[in-house]
Amino acid sequence: MEAGCSLASSITGEDVRLIKAKYPGVPVVTYVNTSADVKAESDICCTSSNAIEVVESLGVDRVIMIPDEYLARNVAAETNVEVIAWKGACEVHERFTADEMRAYKANDPNIVILAHPECPPDVMQEVDFAGSTAAMISYVKDRKPARVVMVTECSMSDNVAVECPEVHFERPCNICPHMKRITLENILHTLQTGEHEVIIDEDMARRARVSVQRMVDLKTPGVNRYNASKPIDVVIENKGSIRPTVRSKVSNRPSEAAMAAGD
Ligand code: SF4
Repeated sequence: MEAGCSLASSITGEDVRLIKAKYPGVPVVTYVNTSADVKAESDICCTSSNAIEVVESLGVDRVIMIPDEYLARNVAAETNVEVIAWKGACEVHERFTADEMRAYKANDPNIVILAHPECPPDVMQEVDFAGSTAAMISYVKDRKPARVVMVTECSMSDNVAVECPEVHFERPCNICPHMKRITLENILHTLQTGEHEVIIDEDMARRARVSVQRMVDLKTPGVNRYNASKPIDVVIENKGSIRPTVRSKVSNRPSEAAMAAGD
């Protein structure tokens, strides 16, 4: 029950309702690393593989994309659709820096750097390829580079390395403390004992399922490539910016100065 996710915990269903109130009619595209409550308030879900396709499938000129600021900015760089982002981040991917990437290249100009699109845009600008775990596996399998740097969470990096045993991988990966809490043994224990059962409100579950199903129904190939060739600024909302400002009470009584002046 202690396993969490910095992305999922960055935003609530109430936050999404407030963003929608600020931008009426603008569809909400939600990354799958979110709670059922947030998905229930969203129009459609996306993954890092299909995020660009999902945004463009809506046929609108503006979307709200939550909760990963960096994924939203990396998607915005690849589309003409205006993206309004949320100030959430994966605590694992946001630790990578552009300086680290430059150091790898300085040490070995032929090394190929692959990154996940949850990384900050300045990191993406220094890498040779950015995409989902599946896209990274395809890239390495197709091109067979001799040496590769994997810029992502350690478990995701392991998956790519297992699929491509002939390639030498540098893995400066960061471990996600939350994912490591979820083990097969723990899942088996929960299934056998019912301990830590999570009960989702029926209506919330139904509405969350709709946003996931809309994504599934798109049947996108899911091979987005993030070039990060034209990083652009996007509006980034946060818990403070979406809450209505509390106005101080305005008195109807005329001020003493006004009364004295006969106003
Ligand atoms: S790596 Fe961890 S913090 Fe990052 S998105 Fe995945 S679960 Fe969340």
